[in-house]
This record gives sequence, structure tokens and C-alpha cells, in this order.
Amino acid sequence: MKLFLASNNAHKAAELAALAARDGLSVEIISARAVGGMPPVVEDAGTFIGNARKKARALQLRLAADAATTGAWALADDSGLCVDALGGAPGVESANYAGLGAGDAANLTKLVAAMRNVPEAKRGAQFCCVLLLAGPGGEEQVCEGRCAGHLLREPRGTEGFGYDPLFMPEGHTRSFAEMSAAEKNLLSHRARAWSALASWMRCRQ
Ligand code: IMP
Repeated sequence: MKLFLASNNAHKAAELAALAARDGLSVEIISARAVGGMPPVVEDAGTFIGNARKKARALQLRLAADAATTGAWALADDSGLCVDALGGAPGVESANYAGLGAGDAANLTKLVAAMRNVPEAKRGAQFCCVLLLAGPGGEEQVCEGRCAGHLLREPRGTEGFGYDPLFMPEGHTRSFAEMSAAEKNLLSHRARAWSALASWMRCRQ
């Protein structure tokens, strides 16, 4: 099964490719670059599912328009960090928390500052990920994964991306950015969403 990834995020692509390889599924994850790049999408749906749907459908339209990819499926990932003390923010706005195009480092700095006076007991947060597969005939498969943890006071580690250096998953003593890619892929929100999607794909193969 060929899945065209509706994302320009190389980190997400690498994590999903590693998950697919680890599970031994006959699934090939192909970058949107192979079909001319990810079409621009305004992520204003207000929910992870809504934004994932917009991304998957935008790429699906492009797939359907090309004879070489007609019949292919598009896979979208919409994800983010929901912080208890911030009422669930940055949530669906995670990518642009410090401003449109501000980037991971600026987002991280803003979050460290926003959490500066929050005591240990109130530093809970969870990563959320929606994976949405959009089929050529309008079919849709949606899977969600979450990973609970808490926020450190300062970033730690150099692996991963986004808010990984600030996030310590529940039951662990290292941040996501202090874990190898394989370790993160055992417990992350994306891995959990993938695992549900993989079960669905296994039934189809
Ligand atoms: P999206 O591309 O609109 O789904 O935004 C995803 C944003 O959420 C990323 O830019 C990161 O800021 C954050 N995020 C999602 N997943 C992760 C993760 O696994 N680690 C760290 N940050 C993540």
C-alpha cells in the first residue's frame, strides 16, 4: 500500500517511516515532494482531526489529478502539545505558538517563559496526534494517539524536534529529546496513533 504523506515536516516523515519499517507492514510512505510538494493549507479547523482532514484532502486532490497516482491514499498527521496550566494551549496552534513561521526554537523559548512560575505539581501536558488516511473515493480512517507527561523547566537533549526537549513522558526520567528515535517511537503520541492505524491496515492487506 502506498501512502503519500501530506506534510513537509521531515521529522514526522522519518518517525512514520521508522514505525512502518518496524511493524513490517508492506506500506511505503512517500513524500508529498514526489507529487510536486504539499499544497498550501490553512490550518484553521480548530481541531487536530479537522486540520488533518484539510491536509489529507488537499493532497488527495493532487493525487487524483495525476494518472500516475490515481487511487493512492494520502496520510496526514496533525499533532501538538496540550499544556494543562495553559488550558490546553498551544494545542492545534503548536507549530505557530510564537508566531507564523517562528520555528521550533522560538516556540520552545515562549513555552519555557509561559511556564516559568508554574509549580511542579501543575506542569502536566500531553502530546496529541491524529493520523488521517484519505482514500480516493472519499474513504477516511482516523486514529488518535496521546502521550502524557510533564514539562521540564529548561530544555534537555538534542534529539527529536519541536517541544521534545521540554517534555518528559510519564514514568520516565529523560525528555523525548534525550531518547533515541527508537525509544521515542515506543511511547510517543505518533507511535500510538500509528499502532491503531497499522492494525486497520493489517486487516486490509
Ligand atoms: P502540525 O504540523 O500543524 O501538525 O504541527 C505540529 C507541531 O506540534 C510541531 O511543529 C511541533 O511544534 C509540535 N509537535 C508535534 N509532534 C511533536 C513531537 O513528536 N515532538 C515535538 N513536538 C511535536
